[in-house]
Amino acid sequence: MHDLEFRQQVLDPISASFCGAKWYNATIWLGSGMTTSCHHPPAHRINEQEIKLHPSSIHNTQQKKQDRAQMQRGERPAGCEYCWKIEDMGRDAVSDRVYKSRIFPTEALIEASAMDPDADVNLRTLEISFDRTCQLACSYCNPAFSSTWVRDIHRNGPYRDLVSDGRNHFTHEHTSAQLYTINDENPYITAFFEWWERDLHRTLDELRVTGGEPLMSGYTWQLVDWFKNNPGRSRTRLAINSNLSMEWATIQRLLDLCEGVELDLYTSNESMGAHAEYIRDGLVWQTWIDNMTAIMRSKQTRALHVMCTINALCLESLPEFLTLLLEWKSRWGADMPSFTLNILRFPSFQSPLVLPDKIRMKHRNRLQQWVDIWWNHAMLQEHERNHVQRLIDYLDVVKTPHSDAFEITTLHRDFGNFYRQYDQRRDKCFTDTFNGLSSWYNQL
Ligand code: SF4
Repeated sequence: MHDLEFRQQVLDPISASFCGAKWYNATIWLGSGMTTSCHHPPAHRINEQEIKLHPSSIHNTQQKKQDRAQMQRGERPAGCEYCWKIEDMGRDAVSDRVYKSRIFPTEALIEASAMDPDADVNLRTLEISFDRTCQLACSYCNPAFSSTWVRDIHRNGPYRDLVSDGRNHFTHEHTSAQLYTINDENPYITAFFEWWERDLHRTLDELRVTGGEPLMSGYTWQLVDWFKNNPGRSRTRLAINSNLSMEWATIQRLLDLCEGVELDLYTSNESMGAHAEYIRDGLVWQTWIDNMTAIMRSKQTRALHVMCTINALCLESLPEFLTLLLEWKSRWGADMPSFTLNILRFPSFQSPLVLPDKIRMKHRNRLQQWVDIWWNHAMLQEHERNHVQRLIDYLDVVKTPHSDAFEITTLHRDFGNFYRQYDQRRDKCFTDTFNGLSSWYNQL
């Protein structure tokens, strides 16, 4: 069944806004005690008292229960705006609500639709972050998710003159993102391991560990050791999000410990060479390429996925990057690697929509040319075709990154103000790196 048919035949009969992710999927940041159903709705706080009695409350929060009730009635929870914006484009656009629902059995979706919205649900897919330790500081990330970003703010102070940074991503160290030090007992992590031991290791199809950089967290290795020491006890597939910017020995250790476990690796990148090193500060392009190649050659993972965060800077080399992924696929298979294109909305001044119309349309047309050449490539998967097509549509149709976004002149000013400070702090040069944007940038 195609994605659109799935929406029409499975989701729409349940309700016009139903999404299985509200019941069966979660991202939980254990370092800060926050959760959300997928990456798009803003994260909300987990009640520390509730988890003492019911560890599963790290997922089954009051907020999610309200959202579930709304979805059962066909109303749109405000936090899911990303999906509503895609669907309101028309053109039968397929939003993430489809992708994030169709991974679950149809019976489970129907069961959720009839369930008491206040009931506690066992997860089927879970993404957890133990802490924010990370050796990179990507331009679209912030101190809440990267200890290297914390160091930038600690050493250099807040970024100045950013009017549209309404969430204050770049002005403070986000101490609330890391409530506990390495020596403290973190009640959220305690609740997770309790729930894991009691139920989760039986019900979860996939457990995905994110960060920071998870391979820098001792809790990730505790979890990997659990799999090693409990062979056959859990059928959960393990997935790790890693920036793959470390020495190969660390990745090899992970692959070896996970022998006998279904393992997927997820990594992030969306542009080539110097562009990638600029956007994803700390990344060494050649190290990333070497580690990607070694993983594919090892055949020790079930799959390797590349998550592309589509921002204003990556479009210049995105088509070449997609061609590189296709070359790898041709050699190693459709899932080696697969990719998703996730359109950045925050910080809004880094959205691809801040680019002037002429430049934006040039990139849109280059992507269209890429599609014209590669659309029927045997290794391109349906969701990948849809993601490229919806990015083209997005560049065509959507005018603002999100409903509360500032005027474009403010976003332009913030774009210039941010990258001038980023260049100074990180010893980089925007105009040398992005030739196609330099004359526009110099006027900002
Ligand atoms: S943002 Fe979309 S995919 Fe995420 S939970 Fe909401 S409806 Fe589902």
